[in-house]
Amino acid sequence: MSTSVPTTMPVASSFAELALPRGIERAIADLGFETPSAIQARAIPSLLDGRDIVGVAQTGTGKTAAFGLPLLAAVDPDLRAVQAVVLTPTRELAMQVAEAISTFAAHLPGVDVVAVYGGSPFLPQQRALQRGAQVVVGTPGRVIDHLERRTLVLDEVRYLVLDEADEMLRMGFAEEVEKVLERAPEQRQVALFSATMPPAIRRVAEQHLTDPVEITVARQSSTVTTVQQTYAVVPFRHKVGALTRVLAVSDADAAIVFVRTRGAAEEVGSALVEKGISAAYISGDVAQGEREKIVERLRSGALDVLVATDVAARGLDVERIGLVVNFDVPREPETYVHRIGRTGRAGREGTALSFVTPNEQGRLRQIERTTRTTLEQIQIPSPAEVSAHRVQKLFSRAPERIEKGRLDLYREAVAVHLAQNPGTDSVDLLAAVAALAVGDEGPAPRDAEDLDDALQRARLAPERGAVREHGSYDRPERGERRRTNTHIAGGPARWRVAVGHRDGVQPGALVGALTGEGGLTGKDVGKIDIFASFSLVDIPGGLSPDALDRLSRTRVAGRPLRIRVDSGPRGDGPRTEGPRHQHGASRPTHGPARNR
Ligand code: ADP
Ligand code: MG
Repeated sequence: MSTSVPTTMPVASSFAELALPRGIERAIADLGFETPSAIQARAIPSLLDGRDIVGVAQTGTGKTAAFGLPLLAAVDPDLRAVQAVVLTPTRELAMQVAEAISTFAAHLPGVDVVAVYGGSPFLPQQRALQRGAQVVVGTPGRVIDHLERRTLVLDEVRYLVLDEADEMLRMGFAEEVEKVLERAPEQRQVALFSATMPPAIRRVAEQHLTDPVEITVARQSSTVTTVQQTYAVVPFRHKVGALTRVLAVSDADAAIVFVRTRGAAEEVGSALVEKGISAAYISGDVAQGEREKIVERLRSGALDVLVATDVAARGLDVERIGLVVNFDVPREPETYVHRIGRTGRAGREGTALSFVTPNEQGRLRQIERTTRTTLEQIQIPSPAEVSAHRVQKLFSRAPERIEKGRLDLYREAVAVHLAQNPGTDSVDLLAAVAALAVGDEGPAPRDAEDLDDALQRARLAPERGAVREHGSYDRPERGERRRTNTHIAGGPARWRVAVGHRDGVQPGALVGALTGEGGLTGKDVGKIDIFASFSLVDIPGGLSPDALDRLSRTRVAGRPLRIRVDSGPRGDGPRTEGPRHQHGASRPTHGPARNR
C-alpha cells in the first residue's frame, strides 16, 4: 500500500479551504478547532469528492472529524431514513463518536444521530431509529441485531465508516462487519480507519472498497514509549500546591501543564507566577500571534512552564518539554495520548504525571485500557523533599561562586554575626541561611500540613470504599475512617506517635523502634499510616506499662516518639475506638510537637 496521497488529491491547510457547509463550519468554530489535523486535511477533500478511503492513523489524530464532517455534508436532513452508519469496536467509542457527530451537527437542523450498542435496552434505540435518525453509530453486534429485527434498514445508506477496524477484528467482529458491508447498497462510500494494517484489514479493503485513496499519517505512538507515565492522587483543592511541589523538584528543562478550560488555564498559570515560577498560559482565547510568541519563549528557555488547554496546545512540538502534568484527567483517553505526546519528543526522555482526584480513579483505568499501559503511582514530594532539592541545587552552584571571588563582603558579615552571637555555631548559621535562601521559614505553616494530610487520606480512603461523590474530600466526616479492629485485652489498638513523613520517617523505622525499645515482635505491629507530622500505628495487643515507659523516651529520626493512645488529632482527623479525652477545639499535638 502506498504511504502517501497521490499528488492529485488536495490537502487542505485550513477548514475554510474545505468548503464545508456553513452549519458545519460554525460547529467547528464553536469547538475551537483552528486548523485541520493531518488526517483531516487529507481525508476530508477525498471524502467530499466521493472517494472511498483507507486511513491509517493512531488514536488522537482527529479521525472522528475526518469522517464525521464529510459524512454530515452528505446527509439529507429532509430524508428521515438512515443514511450513514459508523461501526466502532466498543460501546464507549460508539457513545463518544455519536456525541462528537452530534456536536458537529449542532447547526444542522433536522439531522439526528443515534448510538446503538449492546448491554442497553433495544426500545429507546428502536424509537430513535423510527423517529428518522439519519446517522447511526454502533457496535457491529448490536447493528446486526437491529438489522435482523428490521428496526434498522440500510436501503438509503450512502456512507459507511469502519472506525478502528483492526480493533473490531481483534474483538471478533469480522463476520458482523462483513455482513453490514454486504447489506448496504452498492452505491455507497466507505471510509475505513485503522491504527494498523494487518492482512485481514487489507482483504476487507480490497473486497469492499472501490479504488480507495490511501492515507497514512505519521505514527505518534513511538513517543509514548519514551514517556514514563505516572499518576498521583490529589484532592481537588490541593492541586495547585501539589503542582508547585512537583515543579520544584522536577529535573525537566520545561514542563507543560494541561487543564480543561480557559478559566483553569488562567487561574493555574497566575497561581504559578505568583509563586515565582517562570510560567505562562495559553488557551483558545489567547490570540494566535500571542500564543506563538509564548511558545517561542518556551522553546528558547525564557519560559519554563506552560499551562495550556488541549486546543491551544495541539501539535505543540517543543523539545525542552520533559514533563507533562495533567492537572485534570482528560475525559477521553485519546486526549490523554495527545497530551503526553507533548513530551518525549525527538527521542528524548519524558515524564507524564496525571493528577487524579480520589473519585476519578475509574477514568484512570479507562486510560490504562485504551493505551494498554499501566500508570505508576507516585507520591507528591513533601516539603522536606522540595527543600532538599532546592538546597542541593543551591549548593551545587557554590563552587563556581567561590571561584569567581568578591566574597569579602560576605565573609565579613559572617564574622561580624558570629562575633555578635557567640553561642551560634557556624554550621548552624550556614544551615539557617541555606534554609532561608530556599524559602524554608521554619516549621511548616498550617497549609502545607493540610496538603500532606489530605494527600495521605486520599490515598488511603479508596481502599475503604469511603469515596464520596461530591463535596470536599479532604475532611472526612467523624468516624468515617473508624477502624473495625476488635479490641484485645492489653490496651487500645491504635497509637499515635509525634513523628511523620515530614521528619523523613519510614514505616521500617517505626517498626524498628517498637520492636527494639518497645520489646514487641514484628507480628504485634499492624497497619502504619504515616501523616505529615504524626503517624498512627495499630498495636492490636496493646502495650505494657513497661514498654510504654521505654517508648516514651525513644527517638525516631532524631525526634521523640511521644507515643500515646490515638484520640484523633482534631475534629476531622482519623479516629479510633479508643478513649476520647479530647477537650473542645484543641489541636493537641501539632503546634507543641513542632515548635520545640
Ligand atoms: P481519533 O479518533 O483519531 O483518536 P479524535 O477524533 O477522537 O481522534 O480526536 C481527538 C481529540 O482531538 C478530540 O478531543 C477532538 O475534539 C480533538 N480534535 C480533533 N480535530 C481537531 C482539530 N482540527 N483541532 C483541534 N482539536 C481537534
Ligand atoms: Mg477515534
